[in-house]
Amino acid sequence: MKTVDILIVGAGITGITAASILAREKNKTVLIVEKRHHIGGNCYDCFNEDGILIHLYGPHIFHTQHKDVWDYLSQFTDWLDYVHHVKAFVDGKYISFPININTFEQLFEKSFTKDDVLAYLEREKIDLPEIKNAEDMVISRMGNTIYNKFFKNYTRKQWGVDAKDLAPEITERIPIRFDRDDRFFTDPYQGMPEKGYTELFKAMLDHEKIQVITGKDYRDIKDQVNFDKIIYTGPVDAFFDYKYGYLPYRGINFSFKTYDQENRLPMAVVNCPNDHSYTRITEFKHMTFQKHPKTTLCYEYPSDVQAGRNNPVPSYPILNNSSIKKYKKYLNLSHKKKDTIFIGRLGKFQYLNMDICVKHVMDRLIFD
Ligand SMILES: Cc1cc2nc3c(=O)[nH]c(=O)nc-3n(C[C@H](O)[C@H](O)[C@H](O)COP(=O)(O)OP(=O)(O)OC[C@H]3O[C@@H](n4cnc5c(N)ncnc54)[C@H](O)[C@@H]3O)c2cc1C
Repeated sequence: MKTVDILIVGAGITGITAASILAREKNKTVLIVEKRHHIGGNCYDCFNEDGILIHLYGPHIFHTQHKDVWDYLSQFTDWLDYVHHVKAFVDGKYISFPININTFEQLFEKSFTKDDVLAYLEREKIDLPEIKNAEDMVISRMGNTIYNKFFKNYTRKQWGVDAKDLAPEITERIPIRFDRDDRFFTDPYQGMPEKGYTELFKAMLDHEKIQVITGKDYRDIKDQVNFDKIIYTGPVDAFFDYKYGYLPYRGINFSFKTYDQENRLPMAVVNCPNDHSYTRITEFKHMTFQKHPKTTLCYEYPSDVQAGRNNPVPSYPILNNSSIKKYKKYLNLSHKKKDTIFIGRLGKFQYLNMDICVKHVMDRLIFD
């Protein structure tokens, strides 16, 4: 029988950070069990058959405002100085996104100042007595033209329902910038791991106190291991055998196509709100700076997550009154499991960026 201090379920960025901190900072022995055949969870990257580095579960750009998170990961990787930019393909043009002064100029093909943008919004925004849904949230701030061109169809494709049927919180944090800042993220620390995420994770796991098993569900091996505690980064509803039913997720099917040309898009990510059934396209070479005569694009087709729950991989938790109520029941159960820490995007039924996953682990484990 194997004996370790801690059993970690899931080798995504959350589980890997936990393993690294426990082994290096806390002198604990760790076994990390991952049911997929690779480490990295949804941040996994690999070279495809043409030798182009791709992100198998969609584009991942590292960005954070937390210096401690940046410094922690920087022990294991250097960073490519990549600053993320996105364009939306609207009215046959590539238009700056998130919305800023450039967006208005490119859309309406005339010059705008900050005051012109403010005047436009004042004129166009719809006064509503109450913000009842995600559509209201946008039209009450930006009016119908911007809503129809950038958000209406994108939201429908992304969530599979009309924005009228989604909670206002979904569109609440859409930024409008009154300057010409075209960066997608404004965090002070951003970049891409120099050799990719998987290499970063391998470096984090490279420690004598860490053992890794891939291709195994933890349930199949947990009775063969002695351990004091579990750190669980899988779905919280699965841990409790779906006692209160499934927590709902929206998934994405990723389709990859390699082209016999060096570059195809003007930047790494293009949103397609109105054309095509995919929501966005990614050209990885813009973010990895890889030199290669060919290029690979990734097309994202959002879809419902099927029963069995891994086809496609659950990506975005669907937050509504009923799912939040259900999650709270699981949360109550999880509080009673004193030997188990539920953490990560699936353990907490939350959309979390990578840096927040790392931050949660650092805050929880360093001070525990
Ligand atoms: C399309 C998309 C793009 C994104 N882009 C960005 C971005 O640009 N920047 C950013 O900061 N964040 C981004 N994110 C968020 C990022 O993917 C998450 O922050 C991160 O993947 C969460 O890591 P995790 O370890 O918590 O979960 P996961 O990566 O899901 O890892 C959990 C692991 O647990 C394993 N597991 C589950 N159950 C079991 C079991 N029973 N036994 C063994 N193993 C199990 C799973 O197989 C999985 O590998 C994006 C998310 C999506 C959906």
